[in-house]
Amino acid sequence: MIYLDNAATTKMYEECADIYKEYACNSFYNPSAEYRVSLDIVKKMQNVRENLLRKLGASKGEIIFTGGATESNNLAIMGSKRNGNYEYIFSEGAHASVYNVAKELIQRGNNVHFVNLLPNGQIDCDKLYSLINEKTRLVSLIHVNNETGIINDIKQISTLIKQKCKNILVHVDGVQAFCKIPFTLDNYDLDFYTISAHKFHGPKGVGALYVKSINTLKPIIYGGGQENGYRSGTENVGGIMAMNKAVEMIDVESNYKYVAMLKNEFIASINANGVNIISGDSPYILSVSFAGVNGETLMRSLQDYGVLVGKGSACSSKKSGNRVLESMGLSKENIKTRIRISFSEMNTLEEIKTAGKVILEVYNNLKEKVS
Ligand code: PMP
Repeated sequence: MIYLDNAATTKMYEECADIYKEYACNSFYNPSAEYRVSLDIVKKMQNVRENLLRKLGASKGEIIFTGGATESNNLAIMGSKRNGNYEYIFSEGAHASVYNVAKELIQRGNNVHFVNLLPNGQIDCDKLYSLINEKTRLVSLIHVNNETGIINDIKQISTLIKQKCKNILVHVDGVQAFCKIPFTLDNYDLDFYTISAHKFHGPKGVGALYVKSINTLKPIIYGGGQENGYRSGTENVGGIMAMNKAVEMIDVESNYKYVAMLKNEFIASINANGVNIISGDSPYILSVSFAGVNGETLMRSLQDYGVLVGKGSACSSKKSGNRVLESMGLSKENIKTRIRISFSEMNTLEEIKTAGKVILEVYNNLKEKVS
């Protein structure tokens, strides 16, 4: 099977699975217990926090371990919400785990704005800046869009937001960016950053929220007071240690170069009539539409030929099936005929070349059937 849906999830490194097993079967102690073996685990988790901060390029701030990015996004938004006459700004490019929190904020009577995307997939900054005022509490942005691979200029946007009003909190969903594209959080003026382990060869169901200043946050889950009270519940120690292993193993710069080469080769291999590349700057994600053939049909047929691709995220939409692409102004036809191909450094060049050939063959066959 040639797996090209790495934006949905990645294969876990064997080394991470080994670490997970060690903490599940040998060092399985509850980190909240008070014997030495537990205190040892607490120390190790502390090291993981420091490692994550280092990998993020953050010289200050805190790491809260969570059950993945959906929870981290909920925690950042719901946990920083305050009662009062505040406003919240979101992007049409947001993942469902942000977008649906925004919709819940509306349900609960809050004042919420959505900013459209430009045809190139980036957030409409002029619109964003025009919405900012002294009542704005939080702006939530996506670093790399999971549908298109477009990279938002978080540095510039966060700086301009803070220049307008320094008290505004900035949250960034970094799920498709962390451990994939090189960046240094210290260069960005932001308050929360979300990451998820299973997008970079760690386990599913574990992630973290970076928080610059902990007093901007309140917990959304109450219980035994783990994670300094900000996320109760016994920590997923095996998951956290395995996530750390993945972070240690990944060489962001060299993977970036390698995957960029794969993406270029792949684009070259599908250069044909009717093939329309929609994609953005991240080498990891490619959106392509295949004129005249339904994307879902193509995706389903490809699995019979050993190629797994994505149809894209199942985020809800009123009209043509994809909120993000609709906001970019893509035609219904382009959206309907589009698939998402996403790479990892585990893919080989041979796989990429084979996949390109197979996709063109299957596409041409389906096109003939339709016509
Ligand atoms: N944000 C983005 C940009 C994503 O791509 C995903 C995963 N599709 C999530 C959030 C949710 O991540 P998780 O599966 O860890 O909850």
